[in-house]
Amino acid sequence: MQLFSIFGNPVSHSKSPLMHNLSFQGLGYNGVYTRYKLENGSELRNKFLDLNIKGANITVPHKEYAFKACDELDIFAQKVGAVNTIVKKEGKLYGYNTDAPGFLKAISEFENIKRVLFLGAGGTAQSTSVILRDAGYEVSILNRSAGRLERYNKKGFKTFTFETFKLDEAFDLVVNMTSAGLEDDSLPCPIEILEEVVSKAKACVDVIYGKETPFLKFTKEQNKPTKDGSDMLLYQGIIAFEYFCDHQFTFDEIKEQMKKAFIL
Ligand code: NDP
Repeated sequence: MQLFSIFGNPVSHSKSPLMHNLSFQGLGYNGVYTRYKLENGSELRNKFLDLNIKGANITVPHKEYAFKACDELDIFAQKVGAVNTIVKKEGKLYGYNTDAPGFLKAISEFENIKRVLFLGAGGTAQSTSVILRDAGYEVSILNRSAGRLERYNKKGFKTFTFETFKLDEAFDLVVNMTSAGLEDDSLPCPIEILEEVVSKAKACVDVIYGKETPFLKFTKEQNKPTKDGSDMLLYQGIIAFEYFCDHQFTFDEIKEQMKKAFIL
């Protein structure tokens, strides 16, 4: 039997063990998936090898350590500097980023979207902004503080703080990429900005899942089509599972099993 795990801190809330174990079971794959609370990210590589793990997901706050722990990185992981999926093959650790393609797939279900506004400039925004731009979307970033915007400016994204924000042309999609609303009741930006951008948007997405955040509540009150982060979580999991099992199952076969984790 092959062993898989999620590494992070905290990990007790993670749905990944349920998602992957249901898929192993449903597809008849001889694997089991557990969780490991890792306090020091620099120990990731040694723990992975000591425990003789075949594959892992890496969550907050260790995605940059995971990037450094790998022997080989796929092109997109190299580009964004963050790894959330590692697979061991012939003694070497291979690193991938499945968060960003998971997000891309989740939003591609909305039609006629070109201009996207991200509220937030953290680690998740970093990889998803790049994949969206590569896919032809125009991404702008609005963040509470200026510090995190520097790396986006260097990559040529249009950026704003709350103080410098000005709406020249409507955004089709507005995404809450912050942790505002995760453990508190705050909106990701001042209500005046939100009213302006959401009223002109075609759809809105929150990457937080499993609860109705103040952002999602506000966007529903504006009668906008919305989604929380569940599809992103499901799709990043399916893409990771494809790597774990060397692509022996199709996306839809895995989805059929993994989506059961969202109704249990
Ligand atoms: P980071 O800690 O890297 O970044 C946090 C961002 O949120 C920063 O831009 C920060 O702004 C902003 N922020 C935090 N609190 C507030 C607030 N009260 N008001 C305004 N801005 C705020 O987080 P991540 O990028 O790793 O994660 C972001 C979110 O994505 C989390 O909620 C996480 O749960 C979710 N997520 C969902 C996934 C899924 O599969 N659905 C996968 C991965 C993440 P500042 O720079 O000013 O501090």
